Amino acid sequence: MRANIHAAGLLVGAIVLAWVLNPGLLIAEEVNLSFDHFYDHVQLTKALQTLEKAYPQLATLQSIGKSFAGRDIWAIILNNPKTGPAEHKPGYYIDGNIHGNEIQGTEVALYAVYYLLKNYGRTELATRLLDDRSFYVVPTMNPDSRDWYINKVSDPNSPRSGLVPFDDDRDGVADEDAPDDLDGDGSITTMRKKDPNGMYKPHPDDSRIMVRVKPGEKGEYILLGQEGIDNDGDGLINEDGPGGYDMNRNFGFNWQPDYVQMGAGPYPFCWPETRAVRDFVMAHPNIQGAQSFHNFGGMILRGPGAKNLGDFSPADRSVYDYVGKKGEKILPRYRYITIYKDMYTVYGGSLDFLYSALGIFTFSNELDLDPVEQPTPQRRGGEEQEAEDEEARMMMFQGGRLEEMVYHDLVLMGEQWSNWKPCKHPLYGNIEIGGVKKFGERVPPLFRLAETCHRNAAFCLYHADQLARLEFEKAEVTKVNGDLYQVDIAIGNSRVSPSIASVTVQKKLHRADRLLLSGQKVELVAAGQIIDRFRNLTRKIETQKNTLWVESGVPGFGRLELRLMVKGSGQAELVYDSLKGGQKTKSVVLQ
Ligand SMILES: [Zn+2]
Repeated sequence: MRANIHAAGLLVGAIVLAWVLNPGLLIAEEVNLSFDHFYDHVQLTKALQTLEKAYPQLATLQSIGKSFAGRDIWAIILNNPKTGPAEHKPGYYIDGNIHGNEIQGTEVALYAVYYLLKNYGRTELATRLLDDRSFYVVPTMNPDSRDWYINKVSDPNSPRSGLVPFDDDRDGVADEDAPDDLDGDGSITTMRKKDPNGMYKPHPDDSRIMVRVKPGEKGEYILLGQEGIDNDGDGLINEDGPGGYDMNRNFGFNWQPDYVQMGAGPYPFCWPETRAVRDFVMAHPNIQGAQSFHNFGGMILRGPGAKNLGDFSPADRSVYDYVGKKGEKILPRYRYITIYKDMYTVYGGSLDFLYSALGIFTFSNELDLDPVEQPTPQRRGGEEQEAEDEEARMMMFQGGRLEEMVYHDLVLMGEQWSNWKPCKHPLYGNIEIGGVKKFGERVPPLFRLAETCHRNAAFCLYHADQLARLEFEKAEVTKVNGDLYQVDIAIGNSRVSPSIASVTVQKKLHRADRLLLSGQKVELVAAGQIIDRFRNLTRKIETQKNTLWVESGVPGFGRLELRLMVKGSGQAELVYDSLKGGQKTKSVVLQ
């Protein structure tokens, strides 16, 4: 008995000692999140609260606003306060699920948070990142449509919008004619009808697949679009579903009205969700890198979203290229490309706002690829490409390709395919309903979700690690005469991101870096940037009291060398204070 008590005492002692040495180590055992399902709002809220509770020293959960339907838009901030306040470190921002149907971005964001917290004190990278950087993560920007997509009837592509009622068909009533689940299987699929004059026929090898007939050939079916009826009796079917706008066209940079780009909304930041995210990001001006998760197609996107913006400066482009090309290695088959050139035009997207208005290096990953393994075709553009796209679209209609049906039948074991079944339609009479169910297209199958989460989180953490990492490399004091000293300092940056993006320098998007000198009896008399250390040449920098401003910051993989002329004696403190590159302090003694 006594021996047991003694052993128990030792065990408790060992646990306490381990916790003191490594506070991340033991608590992590208590939280086990799984990434084999999608989190609806209640589950996501619980997961975030559990993480905050388990890691109170590293995580802070806050609601950054309410969605239209009154759900909290959660942000979780990660930082180790023992190594400095969050705002004194380069910040990395992640959001997901701005498009309601693109749900897996939320799991990726949640996983990144979970991974960092769980591995703090365990792996060198997670520990370094939480010590050196702060993280601002909004797992879902669109909690209303997320819940609709997960818990209510929908098709793979909607609701994409937020849920503020929107009168798509301009009849004075909003959201009155959504698709209807006529066969009651929980998914909106497709309607087809036997018709000798139809444009479609069954695939010869698999009658479930509809293929378009060749010119002159007779078909057997007509396709009647998404499952639904004419709810409002206006002669149209499914023309006014929930919401009906695009929040990723609503950001206040290079925004264009609805008549130029559908979905833009009446004015920038008019939706509660886009406003909440804008205010949150702007309240944390130390954010230097960002990721905004979408689906689908396996892409690592950078801006600009539209040609009228012109391409980025070579300096900033090289930062994007460095990180983006590494991303292609972390994410097999994903391609690092530019939105307007390689995809399509986006006005008023969040990514352009973050980079071009706030100076934040931002990527947007289009998560997941076609599950049937095949090399991603290189797009050639032009008419030939368009014809090919059109043909592919036709062939792929209803999950079209044969290999996809093998995947549906034998890998997913039928879970995401609804076989055609007869149904009586009030307008079309005898029809059939069937096709791919909502989780069968744009989101990864659950057995692959964890890989999507891990690899994309790994890309985020790589980018976060490549934010500016400033260090005082040198602080050399030389007495000139009397109480006048020359202080030569060098601030190095061991990462690719400069402390200020070149777009910021060009457009003066935010304040420059500054060096502050403090001490009981010290005065900054003059300062210059050392531009040639061999010839001992400096360029004068204006000083204001004990502050000097460094307009272009510290370059990526580079250094900034300054010479200060300081009057005084005793200890002086130098603070290099970069809004996005973090704050570093160094003490020198004037003697
Ligand atoms: Zn999207």
